Amino acid sequence: MHKRVALVSGASRGIGRAIAIGLAQRGHHVAVGYQTRADAAQATVEEIQRTGGSAYPVQLDVTDPASCQAAAEAIKQRCGRLDILVNNAGIVDESPALAMSDTAWARVLDVCLTGSFNLARACAKFMVLGRWGRIINLSSVVASHGGRGQANYAAAKAGLEGLTRALAVELAPRNILVNAVAPGVIETDMSQAVLAQHGERILPNILLKRAGQPDEVAGLVAFLASDEASYITGQVLHVDGGFGL
Ligand code: NAP
Repeated sequence: MHKRVALVSGASRGIGRAIAIGLAQRGHHVAVGYQTRADAAQATVEEIQRTGGSAYPVQLDVTDPASCQAAAEAIKQRCGRLDILVNNAGIVDESPALAMSDTAWARVLDVCLTGSFNLARACAKFMVLGRWGRIINLSSVVASHGGRGQANYAAAKAGLEGLTRALAVELAPRNILVNAVAPGVIETDMSQAVLAQHGERILPNILLKRAGQPDEVAGLVAFLASDEASYITGQVLHVDGGFGL
């Protein structure tokens, strides 16, 4: 018997992959969300199965409400329920604010903010039916610190933190807890270019003087998804090695 059924968006790579593996290690059945990289999602699934866990890949585009709806319904049909959602899918598209294109602004808001809402709305109704649920949103330290070239991303992640609190208020009576995790600089495809270009400037501003690893975020997400976190909702928890302190 699996403990719970979880959907992790953007689990083909990076932090989402580590979260999917971490949840599976704790006995949950995991739907490994991806948008384009079916090969990478399959590799995540195989890594989970290799260590005795249970998972399968699910294609979805978080910016498309119908795609989110279809993915949530397919999981419910296949697994009988849907208990945990990790809104992890995200993108960056950096440029100076005054030169930022309409497309870059809209794309990042669409994936990081609207996409998380789309998927939360699609999944929460099944959590309501199960009278138990967890939604964990991946924010960023950029939401509270800002970031050069990141007006779109900072706005999207700050919006996501507001959405986290609003959903926590509305869903608490349904026994659905909603929290956000705000990572600092974590070594993934997303941070590769930033670390290569600005690592020397950024790393000294982190108390632990290093970038984090995806596993170091995944542990907190697994805790928030567990029964041990039963009295935590509406919070933003930072995993950033002491960024900016
Ligand atoms: P990543 O390695 O670039 O992976 C991004 C993931 O999002 C991929 O699995 C990708 O799927 C998926 N994705 C992108 N657009 C999507 C869409 N429209 N619909 C569905 N899935 C989509 O990213 P990461 O570094 O692991 O970041 C994960 C989360 O943590 C993001 O929300 C990010 O903002 C946040 N975060 C990251 C850092 C960091 O330093 N890395 C710091 C703070 C916060 P495909 O593989 O199929 O393309």
